[in-house]
Amino acid sequence: MAATIIQGTAIAAALRAEIAYRVQALGYQPSLAVVLVGEDPASAVYVRNKDRAAQGAGLRAETIRLPADTSEAALLTVIHRLNADPAIDGILVQLPLPPHLAARSVIEAIDPAKDVDGFHPINVGRLQDGQAVLAPCTPRGVMKLLVSAEIELRGARALVLGRSGIVGRPVAAMLLAADATVTIAHSRTVNLPDECRRADIVVAAVGRPELVRGDWIKPGAAVIDVGINRLSNGQLAGDVAYEECRAVAGSITPVPGGVGPMTIACLLENTVTAAVARRA
Ligand code: NAD
Repeated sequence: MAATIIQGTAIAAALRAEIAYRVQALGYQPSLAVVLVGEDPASAVYVRNKDRAAQGAGLRAETIRLPADTSEAALLTVIHRLNADPAIDGILVQLPLPPHLAARSVIEAIDPAKDVDGFHPINVGRLQDGQAVLAPCTPRGVMKLLVSAEIELRGARALVLGRSGIVGRPVAAMLLAADATVTIAHSRTVNLPDECRRADIVVAAVGRPELVRGDWIKPGAAVIDVGINRLSNGQLAGDVAYEECRAVAGSITPVPGGVGPMTIACLLENTVTAAVARRA
């Protein structure tokens, strides 16, 4: 039997509606400041989508656009101003930054209480400790999809493909906190297909189009595809060979329309969480 398709677009829309409802009841507008340095076209699209989604859910959103040659000192001055501004609840610096800017020092300058991307070392540490309040948005989206699809996490064997600080590592920490038995595979893993075949849950976040094949999937497994890869013909592909895996898996996310829409919805949720915590 073909897999159940986990409909990220609909699940994200329901989450955004729930956030809009919560915001209405707050009596104030949580506010998100997005800092965009330079004119990378993909980043500009992401920022516009974040801005639209925030406004759609009743949040206040502000985009601060800085030229590509902005110095680190000037960028840090902007962050310090946003940290000190009581009207700002969430700060997000759109990555990647131009090459002359060190993402690490910029992220470390953000007030951890306003770090809605969950990338500040304090928030990374809290996540590892099982104490996260502000956790990274894409991994949170992955977990919400698994919960929506009613996938049993406790005791499940989960394989996370990819060990980036943005997706792989935080997803692994969240699965561990949910009592899964977690393996992290990466570019030096010796036998990726066999690691995969043991897994009840596969989360693929590698950035390699259709790396995960149908015969790597344990029958009935849940397959979450985080990858977004632009092919030479202009089409989008995930990290999972969708049709092959769909025939074997129990449930699977499509690309597009799977994890992608959840990321922005979780950013809005983090902004509301930060606002409520700060204003308590
Ligand atoms: P990254 O390049 O930082 O990390 C990729 C990871 O994959 C590394 O840990 C590397 O060791 C591993 N890897 C690379 N090649 C491999 C191979 N052949 N076998 C096994 N492991 C391999 O990437 P990232 O930022 O984690 O993003 C991963 C993918 O997820 C990309 O396609 C990206 O576009 C996508 N992404 C999607 C969202 C979303 O909102 N849906 C958000 C972030 C990233």
